[in-house]
Amino acid sequence: MAKLLEAHSVSKSFGGLAAVSDVTLSVDQGDIHCIIGPNGAGKSTFFKLIVGTYPPTSGRVLFGGADVTKEMPFSRVKRGMSIKMQKPSVFKELPVRQNLHIALQHHVGYGELKGEEDRLLELLDLSASHGKPAGELSHGQQQWLEIGMAMALRPRLLLLDEPTAGMSPEETYRTGELILQLNKEGTTMLVVEHDMAFVRQIAVAVTVLHFGRTFAHGSINDIIADERVAEIYLGKTNHER
Ligand code: ADP
Ligand code: MG
Repeated sequence: MAKLLEAHSVSKSFGGLAAVSDVTLSVDQGDIHCIIGPNGAGKSTFFKLIVGTYPPTSGRVLFGGADVTKEMPFSRVKRGMSIKMQKPSVFKELPVRQNLHIALQHHVGYGELKGEEDRLLELLDLSASHGKPAGELSHGQQQWLEIGMAMALRPRLLLLDEPTAGMSPEETYRTGELILQLNKEGTTMLVVEHDMAFVRQIAVAVTVLHFGRTFAHGSINDIIADERVAEIYLGKTNHER
């Protein structure tokens, strides 16, 4: 399998705190790769190193074979990364369809806009709400809308940081279905997650971070069977920071 994304020994320190230490991982083209770990494990910090929120203290990031370690986020987006951060940022006062329209307008021809909006509305299960201000959608629906907006860029790699945060179990499950569908249509995914049931639903490959380091890596079945992983999730080390 071709490697779409590679992180080589990336580290990030904040003052004296090593939030991410020497993490190496690669995401294969076509995979759904999940990064899991207890709160404070360094997941979001690692995610920010990949998308370019800040450069790593040391190490390198390659995307499609190109070294992007020092590139700004917008340059990485141009190369085909699309990012959904943890907090939803839809245009709340604008109708749902208008949100998709804004996201799509520079990526599809004028004649195709309406059709593409309809296709995304259907995929996101938001057709019935297309005229509603996005701020009136449920929290889960706003997250889906934002995933749809991120998909408007037709990315090679979609990066999601805790896409199910604050969702009901039903919404979480439907988010998993959406991610599986987008993957089937050809998008590689890197998903930072906390919820094990959700990871089990979607993941092909899993990397476990703990105290900023790679704690385990393998197929979803390997990770489920790994007692040490269960321990950091259930045991005393799973603390809030
Ligand atoms: P996770 O997403 O796995 O919960 P984070 O990457 O958010 O973990 O945080 C990892 C560690 O780095 C935590 O101890 C957190 O307090 C610290 N940290 C994260 N971002 C910053 C920052 N901007 N400045 C200082 N410390 C930070
Ligand atoms: Mg986080």
